[in-house]
Amino acid sequence: MPNLSQLLTSKSSAEYRRVFELCRDISSELDSVDGVYVVGGIVRDLILDRTPGDIDLSVVGNAKTFSQELASRIGAATPDESQFLTFKIRTSGIFSDVSSIDVVTARAESYADSAALPDVSVSSIDDDLKRRDFTVNAMAISLAGSDWGTLVDPKNGFGDVMRKRIKVLHDASFVDDPTRIFRAVRYAVRLGFNLDSRTNELISKSLPNIDRLSGTRVRNEFELVLSEPNRVEMLRMSEEIGLLAAISPGLRIGTKALQVLSDQSEQEVASTELPDLLAITTFGLNEDESKQVVQRFDAPPAWGESITGNAQLAKHVAVLDQPNLAPSEVSDLLRAIPLASISAYILAGPPLPRRDKLVEYVEKIRFIKPEITGDDLLEIGIPQGPIIGQLIDIVRRAKLDGKVSTKQEEIDLAKSRLPGFLTK
Ligand code: ATP
Repeated sequence: MPNLSQLLTSKSSAEYRRVFELCRDISSELDSVDGVYVVGGIVRDLILDRTPGDIDLSVVGNAKTFSQELASRIGAATPDESQFLTFKIRTSGIFSDVSSIDVVTARAESYADSAALPDVSVSSIDDDLKRRDFTVNAMAISLAGSDWGTLVDPKNGFGDVMRKRIKVLHDASFVDDPTRIFRAVRYAVRLGFNLDSRTNELISKSLPNIDRLSGTRVRNEFELVLSEPNRVEMLRMSEEIGLLAAISPGLRIGTKALQVLSDQSEQEVASTELPDLLAITTFGLNEDESKQVVQRFDAPPAWGESITGNAQLAKHVAVLDQPNLAPSEVSDLLRAIPLASISAYILAGPPLPRRDKLVEYVEKIRFIKPEITGDDLLEIGIPQGPIIGQLIDIVRRAKLDGKVSTKQEEIDLAKSRLPGFLTK
């Protein structure tokens, strides 16, 4: 086995080193711990000399006692126990490079049913690595004093890192867990690796298994793709391998949407909010297609609106090309449309006069509000009830069209519109 102690000491930052050294000390002190390993993505990233993410540790033995001891030595709160024998130590506020340390009990997993969550049992580090998704993620480095730095690599992940290859551990991998198809896309693009040819074949064969995943699981995976800096390439690849269509038949990413996302500056890539991303990504889907996508994702209202809003806007937007449209008419047309869909249309829609109207709505019209409030109307004797809202809306539209400008004019207009029976 190669020894990578060099990576633990010279390639990692002081914070990572401190954690690794504490692991070494604690493992030698605790009788209930037979081995401690840094595992998964961080090993891959250390080998690749990429900045690693949070720390994943695998403990052979009592992971609970181990994680409590580690938390106490770094001054963190008692770890949260999440799933089966998994403990999370929160380190934000203590460390700047590492926001959490996940400590798992080395375990084996088996899948009774395709796409279900696995059955889990305590096991060895080898079994723990064999339950993982890809060879490049199935490596561990020992942190125990006796074999500090020893690489455990039962599936030749090191070779695949060198060959820049994403390869599953066995042929049933995507059947056991179809979310790994999304993960394959994310790793291939993020690391600049290729899909190994057999893995590619298995993905094609396993695409129908995406249907077996719950809406929430598919949505989570899709959201992870959208939150990556390289999402354009990931969406493109997802489309090419048939993953988007496997999620929902009408789901595709149009060339205009790809163009908009590719043109984003680095700062926009980091700051674009999810509703805006969803609206851009699903731009061009018709009403039925977007409804199907929303249903497939079992989407919460904020997601649903951003996806269906595009088709809703597309139905009426041509009206905005008419000359001499009053601002109140623009507002009537757009008020019920999610802002994310309007912004997506501005970016991805055709350069017709409607675009200027949409921009005017987003930047100006939607902020124009009357000065009077319901309280002002109650004060002048208008009774409580729906009439208050109706009068405020009349005043709002008049203000938009420049027919009133002062508060007194607003009050006068409201009074003049009172139904006859109220003025008697
Ligand atoms: P990053 O956090 O940088 O996205 P990572 O490789 O650490 O990458 P995580 O999603 O944090 O990825 O998962 C940690 C490790 O757990 C992975 O490296 C992999 O070994 C394993 N893993 C995660 N999800 C799965 C899965 N669906 N099937 C098998 N193994 C998985």
